[in-house]
Amino acid sequence: MEIVIVGAGVIGLATAWRAAAGGASVVLVDPAPASGASSVAAGMLTPVSELTYGEEPLLRLGLASRDRYGAFVAELEDLTGLDTGYRTDGLLQVASDADDLKYLEDLRRFQESLGIPAQPLTGRECRRAEPMLAPGVRGGLLAPEDGSVDPRRLTAALLAAAGRLGVRLVRRRAARIVVEGDAAAGVGLDDGTVLRADRVLLAAGPWSGDLDGLPPGTVPPVRPVKGQVIRLRARVPFLRRTTRGLVKGSSVYLVPRADGEIVLGATQEELGFDTRVTAGGLWELLRDARELLPGITELEFAEVTAGLRPGSPDNAPVMGPTALPGLFAGTGHFRNGVLLTPVSADILSAMLLDGPVPEVAGPFTPDRFSAEVQA
Ligand code: FAD
Repeated sequence: MEIVIVGAGVIGLATAWRAAAGGASVVLVDPAPASGASSVAAGMLTPVSELTYGEEPLLRLGLASRDRYGAFVAELEDLTGLDTGYRTDGLLQVASDADDLKYLEDLRRFQESLGIPAQPLTGRECRRAEPMLAPGVRGGLLAPEDGSVDPRRLTAALLAAAGRLGVRLVRRRAARIVVEGDAAAGVGLDDGTVLRADRVLLAAGPWSGDLDGLPPGTVPPVRPVKGQVIRLRARVPFLRRTTRGLVKGSSVYLVPRADGEIVLGATQEELGFDTRVTAGGLWELLRDARELLPGITELEFAEVTAGLRPGSPDNAPVMGPTALPGLFAGTGHFRNGVLLTPVSADILSAMLLDGPVPEVAGPFTPDRFSAEVQA
């Protein structure tokens, strides 16, 4: 089986690794591997605290992925000798006023109705768990099984693992899908080279629909959703675990790493393919973070970046065969692509290799959008 994967972000890289492990001959095409959202993301592995009403299938997918994470990174680290920064120290969600606390209380009830225990904490208990929190913090929720990973280290390890298993990396832009008869037969590159394949996977984030030769409606419209993040550096331990806050309804999070980096994020902006960092975006993040953790103003500033989350029409991933035989989609992972990497790689590699597909993949195939159009 010859497979070409377009896009080497977390999704393309992990699928390439898994498909190669399953015996396929894999070519990965990307002019700048791991340069998209995967290089900006904070790396929270938080299906429970991300829980939104009406998104129960996505919760199940997130939990399935979180359950696979430990074994996934252990295999990756063993194979490559590279550390991924994986942590399982939980996530603390805190509220800064009575309305924010009410929101967390509603969230806790919703979680419990789905059989997911959440631990409510008083303000004092929150500060005991995280001593740098402001005295005004009203209360919180602890999700003890959530965690984080460093997406930059993860993509570096995935690149190394894919290389070890013989995946060929072509550093060029895929310009078009080659169609023969009524099926995808490969990918044309920007230098005119054609890579022939039995199957093609589009995993190019929000650029996944951007290739010539795609029959109209083949790939659901994936839109870019901008997110700005700030990287800070602490010389002494500042946070024990990922801490997420609601500050007068607006959400902010801080993700600590073992090397002292703290990722503060993130804005959510519908501005097309715009990756400019703005004064307003940074101000909002710093303003809300300082409300929760006044000590952040003492931390060293390291970096600001903006990335584009791939958002599908229903904000859930799009994984599976498209209407063009031989062409598969692996995109639309929106705010959860890093969390969803292990389960997505299992699902997509099984689909590409005609293996048994995990049941949890059911609600996420591309045909859900064409069914909606016909209804
Ligand atoms: P990308 O990482 O965007 O990769 C797409 C790749 O395709 C790029 O390398 C690009 O160069 C390549 N490409 C584009 N066009 C072409 C072409 N024509 N030919 C070849 N290659 C091409 N997720 C979490 O789970 N937890 C988080 O805490 C989290 N935080 C986030 C914070 C921010 C600010 C942002 C922006 C995202 C965050 N995410 C998080 C979401 C996560 O980053 C994405 O869902 C995930 O990275 C998507 O991965 P991907 O491989 O689909 O796309």
